[in-house]
Amino acid sequence: MAAIEVGRYAPSPSGRMHLGNLSCCLLAWLSAKSAGGRVVLRIEDLDPVRCPRSFADLLEADLAWLGLSADEGGAKGGPAGSYYQSERSEIYQQFYNRLAAKGLVYPCFCSRSQLHAASAPHRSDGQVIYAGTCRGLTPGEIAEKQKHKSPAWRVIVPDETLCFTDGHMGPYAENLAKDCGDFYLRRADGVFAYQLAVVVDDALMGVTQVVRGADLLSSTPRQLWLYRELGLKAPRFYHMPLLLAADGRRLSKRDGDQSLENLQQRYTPEQLVGRMAYALGLQDTPAPRTPTELLNGFDWNKIPRQDIALPEGLF
Ligand code: GLU
Repeated sequence: MAAIEVGRYAPSPSGRMHLGNLSCCLLAWLSAKSAGGRVVLRIEDLDPVRCPRSFADLLEADLAWLGLSADEGGAKGGPAGSYYQSERSEIYQQFYNRLAAKGLVYPCFCSRSQLHAASAPHRSDGQVIYAGTCRGLTPGEIAEKQKHKSPAWRVIVPDETLCFTDGHMGPYAENLAKDCGDFYLRRADGVFAYQLAVVVDDALMGVTQVVRGADLLSSTPRQLWLYRELGLKAPRFYHMPLLLAADGRRLSKRDGDQSLENLQQRYTPEQLVGRMAYALGLQDTPAPRTPTELLNGFDWNKIPRQDIALPEGLF
């Protein structure tokens, strides 16, 4: 018997959800449910100052309002223990230790200005490719530097090209050393990095399909490599196009009018879901729909692969 599909929402509740996050949740729900699966809610509040619990609670209420409640996780919990990343540090520590035991982890003392030196090459996601400055420090040099500064911790990536086929965007490849560089596993204040936490959590929560924005496509080779190094089973990935405002800007939480707070004043859940489905290419008109009504005929092939500029006046 085929294993049941498990999708997930993995929001960072640093504010109210906007159309981009909401569309991602709608697609994650449709993708898992149309395959007869279920959906897990994991709250990515690694930085508890930016992501207070009140926002997470609001987010869950918003998902329920839309008809997109998760089957497992969030405040409801489930077999994986806590579904709040801020409460899972001990678990991340175990997997971090596995990488450290392989000799793959080293402390990095570089300052922000050193990292952003004018000549620093950039990754496709705009971040700096780390030059490896601290990789060769001797134990003596490390001990000396640690007297003055707490280091962040990086993982050594191989000079290897990781290829995978995204369920929506197709083939994608990146050379870890050249296109990405040694990346953070842990910040200087002890907070584990997203790249590690997301891999550990998706694996331990039994996630079989990850639906998320195309801005994270370039994180996927790093994550696939971590799955391999940690001996964990990787899910399939489906990256969805980013939603842009009619003038071509990326939607962000700062776009007040696209936040759920404002949208709820103007639309019923069915009106909002219908309009999102129209913007995503899932139906021909913005007619009101429930998520369940959209299951019939759901097909990733209907969704564009390029960024979607929201039609003027749709929201
Ligand atoms: N927490 C991330 C966000 O809200 C999503 C991470 C993921 O889907 O892998 O953008």
